[in-house]
Amino acid sequence: MNGAVIPLQAAAGDCSNAPVLRERGQREVFCGLTGIVWLHRKIQDAFFLVVGSRTCAHLIQSAAGVMIFAEPRFATAIIDERDLAGLADAQDELDRVVTRLLERRSDIRMLFLVGSCPSEVIKLDLSRAAARLSQRFAPQVRVLNYSGSGIETTFTQGEDACLAALVPGLPALADGAEASLVVVGALADIVEDQFSRLFAQIGVPRVAFLPARLSSAMPAVGPGTHFILAQPFLADTARALEARGARRVAAPFPLGAEGTTRWFEAAAAAFGIAAAKVAEVTTAPRQRAQAALARQRIALEGKSVFFFPDSQLEIPLARFLVRELGMQLTEVGTPYLHREHMADELAWLPAGTSLSEGQHVDKQLDRCRAARPDIVICGLGLANPLEAEGLTTKWAIELVFSPIHGYEQAGDLAELFARPLRRRQLLAA
Ligand code: SF4
Repeated sequence: MNGAVIPLQAAAGDCSNAPVLRERGQREVFCGLTGIVWLHRKIQDAFFLVVGSRTCAHLIQSAAGVMIFAEPRFATAIIDERDLAGLADAQDELDRVVTRLLERRSDIRMLFLVGSCPSEVIKLDLSRAAARLSQRFAPQVRVLNYSGSGIETTFTQGEDACLAALVPGLPALADGAEASLVVVGALADIVEDQFSRLFAQIGVPRVAFLPARLSSAMPAVGPGTHFILAQPFLADTARALEARGARRVAAPFPLGAEGTTRWFEAAAAAFGIAAAKVAEVTTAPRQRAQAALARQRIALEGKSVFFFPDSQLEIPLARFLVRELGMQLTEVGTPYLHREHMADELAWLPAGTSLSEGQHVDKQLDRCRAARPDIVICGLGLANPLEAEGLTTKWAIELVFSPIHGYEQAGDLAELFARPLRRRQLLAA
């Protein structure tokens, strides 16, 4: 139903019930394999083996190719074209590749078989392969599988699929154990360390992160677990955690000073800790963030921004730009709108914001050209043509690769939007 507007009544003052333009058409996004670029850095004893084609190998090499280590932690097992009769051979071949890899690399403790979208790979049952190989290499190595294919919504879904695959194997929280908090979503180590320190000062007990830096340190979960999302694209992971009895703490996302404060407040409230305690602990970092944002506001205030759907970070980022930097929103596109997870964010977006979900790229390009925004946030494939048309762009994928969460990163996050505007000004001078 291309271009259909769902006629919902917009609430006065915010976007909680705002109408959303839903589009289904050609999309311009990366596939979920891209997540390997940041996930392999995060889980330090894991290896990601893409089961795919030469195209997948090229994607992974070019996305992560700058990091050629002596001992890389990702690779592609290329499954060439074969008919169904050749599938048994493909399973044998996969076993051979995995055996060779694990014999050579005794540092690997967790191996992800990452599915992709070529038809030969879709026919392969990777969950069976993972179960078989896990049995064979236990207890030294656990073998899991997930799909990073381009058939799914967008590239951040690769992380969601990876974390959701981890959940069933997480240890169980012992009966009667003290309640714990799990922060869900891969964060830069520096951000994780800052968050750990603040949680400790606030007095939230037993805080753990999913994913952990080591496969042996993954958090225990159970009915005593509260979890809070640090990334807005983790719907399947949240569902899997809820299936284990864990309860989600509803909150906006920790982007910008305001989002970070409310995120800490929500987590603290789940443990009966008052907002005043959070305010006391976070005063200094919050003031540092606000000062950094005031400096960036000079370049950004009043500027208009258009989001193409790409990372699923669009709505929290739009909220940050409009509320903390005074920017104007033209259209906020997102690949997928999870209303429940986005409830606090939508309540912060000004009424009248144009929201869209999914993509019909040609129609959206027309709307973008008509809006002539000061800056466009989009995928790599759209950035160059739009720049050639005189529009200023920012690659959405950079926002996922950079540490942007929390107080100390708020200024850097704003800078990611200010820099392309400054560059355009210099070019025009
Ligand atoms: S998974 Fe699909 S979209 Fe991604 S690189 Fe491989 S073939 Fe391309």
